[in-house]
Amino acid sequence: AAKVAGRNRCYVFDAELAHHIAMRRDIERDLGKALAEGGLEVWYQPVMVDGGARFGGFEALARWRHPRHGWIAPPDLIASASLAGFGEQLLRFILSDVCVTILAMREIGLGGARVAMNVSPREMSQIAVDELVLKDLKARGVPPSMLEIEITEETALDIQAVRGKLAALSEAGVSVAIDDFGVGYSSLGALRRLRVDRVKIDRIFVEGVSRSTENRSLVLAILSLAGPLGFEVVAEGIEHEDDLETMRELGCKAFQGYLIARPMPRNEALRWARAHANAMPARPAPRR
Ligand code: C2E
Ligand code: MG
Ligand code: MG
Ligand code: MG
Repeated sequence: AAKVAGRNRCYVFDAELAHHIAMRRDIERDLGKALAEGGLEVWYQPVMVDGGARFGGFEALARWRHPRHGWIAPPDLIASASLAGFGEQLLRFILSDVCVTILAMREIGLGGARVAMNVSPREMSQIAVDELVLKDLKARGVPPSMLEIEITEETALDIQAVRGKLAALSEAGVSVAIDDFGVGYSSLGALRRLRVDRVKIDRIFVEGVSRSTENRSLVLAILSLAGPLGFEVVAEGIEHEDDLETMRELGCKAFQGYLIARPMPRNEALRWARAHANAMPARPAPRR
């Protein structure tokens, strides 16, 4: 029986692998079509600042529902795009969606808020992100102060390669945030030299912070650097009321997570922002 099970498992593994390879191929093939003909979307998740008293802006998150394979995880989407040679096209697509959103925000009196866009390590190193972004903002009349670029800690460590690009963006008024802070190889030197505007504490440290003294210590350590190094700290992945309370008690003032709001299509997100410009929802956001 063991032999049969073993053989079965082997068979299942091969089938899964084959399926995975086929899926990758489908995604790469269909992504070009989606980029050209539509289907790719950017959703927006609110960030509340000033202890939750004020809407601070959105994080832009790529969304693509493949006709056969369903929702594709954004990291797979970004990686496939790059492998298929669509990396720059995808970045431009997301940037243009973000610009439309920023202009709409300004229109409804949310010109003091920001939209953060993720840029992967590969995108950061392979694409002239600084030139591409600054040209586009100018052409569209988008104020650089309303855009933020989020890079992971991993990217931040590759200082030589990204420093010039980030400096150019920063000089033009674009904010820079370090994403998923705490999971990579924390380098305090990188934080200092890059002069980041914001550090986003990864949700694995936020989840259960009310019950974990270790997580609390880590959060306190990051917060203690914020003043001297001049960055703001955002807690991401807030799902539970008690974690929000603990983060507040520790001194964190900016929050993002399902408890506050899920990522939403642009129009819904703009309505949300208008309704919550000066206060978070009193009750946890309904699951959707
Ligand atoms: P990230 O930048 O750390 O984005 C936060 C992720 O956490 C998003 O997942 C968001 O939907 C999810 N999230 C937000 N609040 C909660 C919460 O309370 N609980 C839980 N469990 N999750 C929450 P998503 O959209 O699947 O994106 C995953 C990652 O993919 C992102 O992580 C980012 O690194 C990357 N990504 C997404 N969109 C883009 C993009 O346009 N370009 C690039 N380069 N990367 C992107
Ligand atoms: Mg992010
Ligand atoms: Mg993050
Ligand atoms: Mg994360």
